[in-house]
Amino acid sequence: MNNPNNTPGQASRKKTAQDARLFIERVAQHNGWSVNPDRQFVDDLAEGLAVNYNRHGYFLCPCRDGDGERERDRDIICPCDYITPDQQEFGHCFCGLFLTPEFAVKNEAPTQIPERRPEE
Ligand code: SF4
Repeated sequence: MNNPNNTPGQASRKKTAQDARLFIERVAQHNGWSVNPDRQFVDDLAEGLAVNYNRHGYFLCPCRDGDGERERDRDIICPCDYITPDQQEFGHCFCGLFLTPEFAVKNEAPTQIPERRPEE
């Protein structure tokens, strides 16, 4: 899985929601995923990603509470470690942001899916 815009050296510059939106589009393009077509929904997630980036220095998943430490949050830095099995089972990631092409053509809204991240 490629993550073109989430490298440690980029933590110093503040990210805007537009930056996060670009990040989303680039990640989707690099991985062959579709972005949720609900523009407002994606804008809200982009805003959450930008807030998390500016708070922690990395794109912490906007749907989860992290620890604020990169090492401990490593599995839930977007795109998270759970996207592949979630997409395989449900067609989309936990947040409903990234869809498989097969799910996207069905034109269905993502549903809430179980949290795959193990509890501590
Ligand atoms: S659930 Fe989706 S939005 Fe959240 S980190 Fe994983 S890939 Fe990113």
